[in-house]
Amino acid sequence: MTESIATRLIHHPYRPPEGFDAPQPAVHKASTVFFPNVAALESRDWKQKQGYTYGLHGTPTSFLLEERLAALEGGTDCLLVPSGLAAIATVWLSLLRTGDEVLLPDNVYGPSKTLADGELAAFGIGWRRYDAMDPAALDAAIGTNTRMVWLEAAGSVTMEFPPLAALVEVCRRRGVRCVLDNTWGAGLAFDPFLIPAGEGATVAVDVTIHALTKYPSGGGDVLMGSIVTRDAALHMQLKMTHMRLGLGVGANDVESVLRSLPSIALRYDAQDAAARTLARWLAEQPAVAQVLHPALEGAPGHAHWQSVCGATNRAAGIFSVVFDRRHDRSQVHAFCDALERFRIGYSWGGPVSLVVPYDIAGMRDPAVAPWPYAGTLVRLCIGLEDVEDLRVDLAQALATLDRSRSHAGAD
Ligand SMILES: *Cc1c(COP(=O)(O)O)cnc(C)c1O
Repeated sequence: MTESIATRLIHHPYRPPEGFDAPQPAVHKASTVFFPNVAALESRDWKQKQGYTYGLHGTPTSFLLEERLAALEGGTDCLLVPSGLAAIATVWLSLLRTGDEVLLPDNVYGPSKTLADGELAAFGIGWRRYDAMDPAALDAAIGTNTRMVWLEAAGSVTMEFPPLAALVEVCRRRGVRCVLDNTWGAGLAFDPFLIPAGEGATVAVDVTIHALTKYPSGGGDVLMGSIVTRDAALHMQLKMTHMRLGLGVGANDVESVLRSLPSIALRYDAQDAAARTLARWLAEQPAVAQVLHPALEGAPGHAHWQSVCGATNRAAGIFSVVFDRRHDRSQVHAFCDALERFRIGYSWGGPVSLVVPYDIAGMRDPAVAPWPYAGTLVRLCIGLEDVEDLRVDLAQALATLDRSRSHAGAD
């Protein structure tokens, strides 16, 4: 008897094309993975990536992205998680235990502090802030319970580039693990496992996390994170936590990142060049008191950027400006509202330029490192638009700022 079409469709034989090769990989989607027999099921070894066992343990598509991201950051192993913040949470839950403490730079990616406040305390894990620009302050801050030092280069929003090699050296000397949020460098501006430490020497962080949401995605349409290591035992510890927490990523999102990766260096360099052009132009404008871009002379951490990224001469296409204090907060908000090509929104690394004003005083602990600028800060993330069109947009919005000021002065 011939089986019904429903059954025949489900069991229709499929063979991948023999000898087929193409620029983009196939997209393999699975929760269930079939085993040829029970013996194969019982001898499965998902940990060493020997074959496939279940969607959460990976598919040919996710393995390929993991391998490419490990190569991008100079590591050996990679785990994929549903967002950059999930990468931070996974590293903390895996490597910290009750009674431990993690030190965060005061200019860390903001939601990290919210995560630490809201979740770590419940597990009896402490956290404190340190001044990322001062290795001696980090040395002094490390206590007997400190198990991890968090690093970010450049710092979030205020963009100071830290003395990265010196901070890593402090961690090495004190025997404390260090993890770098490498989203800004993206594996392109510097090698986190070969950070120049002077006279040809290099130092390495233990783990990097990367918000793939930014440059690797490049589209403003994917949320994903990665955790890269080059120590097999450390990778396995993180991998077990990752497995137990049930963290998976969607194959279509993985494909989007695979699709974008071949152009990452082109996009990074284009956004870098446009950002520096606009940052230099903004530095000349009377309304702007300070430009915060580590590749610009006179910006905080410029010498540190030079020593770590000088060889590549690369920087992310993101910077901040501090407005002169005579422009009050509402006037600076009106400047942001007046922009037409820059859209108001979070994130970066996508095609559309973005703007967000920040209240830095409310984000920092003055006892750790006092914030030296009085005016309102605005962060600009440069997209892929023509740089002259962006400059014209900034100029027209600066003109509204001057108009709102003269109205205020007339009252
Ligand atoms: C965006 C970002 C994150 C978090 O990434 P999400 O995917 O948005 O969770 C972490 N660190 C840095 C430096 C970021 O810019």
